[in-house]
Order: sequence, then C-alpha cells, then structure tokens
Amino acid sequence: MGSEERPLRVAIVGAGPSGFYAAEHLQERDDLIALIDMYDRLPTPFGLVRGGVAPDHQKIKSVTRVYDRIATHSHFRFFGNVEFGRDMTDADLADHYHAAIYATGARTDRRMGIPGEELPGSHPATEFVGWYNAHPDFHDVRFDLSGAHVVIVGNGNVAIDIARILASPPELLAETDIADEALEALRASRVRTITVLGRRGPAQAAFTAKELKGLASVPETDVVVEAGALADGPAGVGEGDPRTLELLRELAARPRMEAAREIHLRFLASPVEILGTERVERLVVAENELYEGSGGRLRARPSGRYETIPADLVLRAIGYRGVALPGVPFDEGRGVIPNAGGRMLDGPEGSPIPGEYVVGWIKRGPRGIIGTNKPDAQETVEALLADLAEGHLRDPYRPEPAAVVELLGRRKPDYVTYEDWQIIDELERARGAETGRARRKFARIEEMLDALAERKDAMEVADEALEVESPEG
Ligand code: NAP
Repeated sequence: MGSEERPLRVAIVGAGPSGFYAAEHLQERDDLIALIDMYDRLPTPFGLVRGGVAPDHQKIKSVTRVYDRIATHSHFRFFGNVEFGRDMTDADLADHYHAAIYATGARTDRRMGIPGEELPGSHPATEFVGWYNAHPDFHDVRFDLSGAHVVIVGNGNVAIDIARILASPPELLAETDIADEALEALRASRVRTITVLGRRGPAQAAFTAKELKGLASVPETDVVVEAGALADGPAGVGEGDPRTLELLRELAARPRMEAAREIHLRFLASPVEILGTERVERLVVAENELYEGSGGRLRARPSGRYETIPADLVLRAIGYRGVALPGVPFDEGRGVIPNAGGRMLDGPEGSPIPGEYVVGWIKRGPRGIIGTNKPDAQETVEALLADLAEGHLRDPYRPEPAAVVELLGRRKPDYVTYEDWQIIDELERARGAETGRARRKFARIEEMLDALAERKDAMEVADEALEVESPEG
C-alpha cells in the first residue's frame, strides 16, 4: 500500500496549520503515494492563520503561500463547509480511508470561574479575536467600546494581541484584513485605558519579547509598567526571558507622553469578582504573592490585599481549550484527544486505535506558535508511516477517491473545493483593493457561498460566450 496501484488514502479533519503540515510531511515522501482529503467545517481553509492571527500581522499570515503549494498538489483535495460528525462521521472516514488525522485545534476558551463572569461586557478572548478576524462563528457578537476602561486577564500573546488591536490607531488597521464591523467599532472606540493583568510576575509572563516589543511601539500609546513589579525576587528576576525583562525595565523607565491611550501591564494581580448591575462596571483584583507549588512551579496566591478598578469591558485571554468531537475519545481534564506521540488512544492511558491520529493543539494543548506544528505533525506522520509498514492501518471498503465525492454529493452538495476557495480568496482581495485594504473578508458563510455561486455563474457564462465566439475550438 502507498504505491500507484494501491495509494494510501488519508483524511485530515481540520484545515489549520497542523493539518497542512501533516499533509506536507506525507507529500514529502518520494516512496509513498498518498491521496489526501482535507475537511473543514468552514468554507475557508487555514484555521487560526485566518481566524486567529491578528490582522496587523499580515506577514505571519503570508505563511498561507506554503499551504497553497500543499493544497494544489495533484494528490490533495479540500472539502470545506463539511462538518465532522454531521456531514462526515468517524464511521464514514473508516469506510473510505486507511488513516484519519484529526487537526481540529482548540476552539473554545478556559473560564476564570469567578462571580460576575457571565455579566454582559465580560467575554472570552476567542470571541474578541474571532470578531476582529471576521470568523463566521462570531458575526453576531457585538463589543461595546463606548467605555473608557478595558481589562484583559492573562499574560500570553493573545492578551498582547488584543491590547495592541484596542490601542492601535484605526487608520493603521484600515490597511489590513480586519473585519468591517470591528474596524467600524474601533473607529468609534472611546477606550482610554487598557489594563493587562498577569497573575504571576514579569519573569513568568507567557508573552514573547517580540510581541511585547510590538506592543511597546503602538503609536499614540503609553505602555506603563510599575517599577516595583521588576524588583528583586522570583517574580521580577526569575527564569524569565532576559529580553522580555529588559524591555519591561525599559518601559518602566520610559517617561509618559500623556498619550491618547494607556496600556497598564500589571503583574501579581488576579481578578476575583466582576461587579455590575446590568453589565460589567468594576473588577475586584487581588494582589498575589508567589509560592513554590508541586514540581517546583511558582504559583500565585492572594496576599490578602484587594483593590477595585473600573472596567467597562473584561476580556479573558487565559488560554484556549479543545472541544470533543462526536465519536472520538476526549480527555476532559486536558481538553485534548488522548494520544501517544500522535497515535490516538481509546482513553487517557488507553490503547492505540488503529488508523486514527492527531496533530496540533488538539494533540498537545493550546501552546506554541505556527511553526511548532511542523515537528509536531512530523512526529504524528512518522507514527502513521511506521504503522503502515507494520500493516496496522485500517482496511476501508470504499477507498476509491470518487466514493467520498459521491457521498458528499448526496449529503452536503454545497461543499467547497480548493478551486472554490481560490475564487473566494480572489473576491475578498478584490473587495479589499477597492478601499486600499489587504482584503475584505466575508463574515457570513451564506454571503460567501452566494458570492461564490454568483462568480461561478458569471465564469460559466463567459466560458460559453467564448465557445460561441470561436466555434472551431
Ligand atoms: P498562553 O500563552 O498559554 O497564556 C495564557 C495566560 O493566561 C498565561 O499568562 C496564564 O498564566 C494566564 N492564566 C491562565 N489561567 C488564568 C487564570 N485563571 N487567571 C489569570 N490568568 C490565567 O495562551 P494564549 O495567550 O492563549 O496563547 C496560546 C498560544 O498561542 C501560545 O503559545 C502563544 O504564544 C501563541 N500565540 C502566538 C502569537 C504570536 O506569536 N504572535 C499570538 C497569539 C498567540 P500562568 O502562566 O500563570 O498560567
């Protein structure tokens, strides 16, 4: 198996970076013919590169050129707008493929578990990020930016992304592919202070020096760090990235410009309660101290001092979380599909399930940058190929590529191919070019599918006209 006569059939569920890198590793094998089908519930590929990476990071988004190359390989097909568990089930995959690789990421959020978390005006980062990236799941969400104070909970790169987007002059964002709705709301924004709360110290911050540097250079914005946060002690001089600590020291020493907006980076501070009658109004914050927990990890606990700060909007950026897939084992504790080096297990500490694999955040949890998915996917593909060599994959009864097309034709006729996506891509870029923007995304699936159908009709008419004009051929 894996030859021209008996090609290996692989399904990849999820069209984000980890799925694409898994496909790439399979394509790189000269001695293997693998026919890959990639599925996504959205009509658009690229997962978090499209729906997560901040719009002012267009350079990072250009990684999609690599994915384009992978997707246009003659042994690769994309089936977008196909939801796993509804339009295509695990049993269908077993019928059609020797192996399935799950690359579904971590699309929900973790919760703080504090009173007031449900009040209007308190949102997870997933919503805010999805909103500014025109992710179809969030086109109905509205953010009220009419208040002066926003509090962001968490000290990772997502918290930094959100703070930067809230503080950036809208005219800079207007050149990007930010959602129309978000751009409009940010243009009308009256946000003046953005407070970022880290529960541990600067030395334990999860954000990277590169992202902090980006935040420090937002125009018309003071980034404020209290010098006291950088005092001697495990929080200030622990084993953090020296570049991050250096930059924080620089910020602490920077004179204030009395700029239009202020970002306060506060450390050793945890939210304990959100207060408000109709909506979020204030936040009770506990001052923390560090102690050594199990495994030597420095943990935070309240020192006994509390403070109440104004908050018109609270965004929790405390980590993403994987979602269970119908018919697929799930480790509720860790929010991942149980696995050993990418081989799916039938439960935590369980046994491998033949022909089932995982990559990316649903394999290892929501950590790491886009590039982290490359070695991660390689490990999984190595496991898959070792199982192929041992004869441990599945034996589908309809492996011929036409069989799934026939199935989808019946079950989900409006599935989207890669060629369709390329048309959508062109349309979005053209819409953007009209107003000097990188692209203007369709935020609703129906809008996207209607525009695609209209364009395809127009292309058909043009083709027919061409045939009439040159009847000889
Ligand atoms: P993250 O890096 O894991 O950061 C989560 C933060 O939330 C940590 O500071 C964590 O603090 C804090 N936290 C967790 N639970 C909390 C609680 N109950 N109360 C208060 N704080 C809490 O997660 P992320 O920011 O969502 O990013 C996910 C991954 O994507 C990361 O690997 C990140 O680097 C990557 N990413 C990269 C970029 C980029 O490269 N430009 C942009 C966005 C995201 P503790 O450390 O104390 O647990």
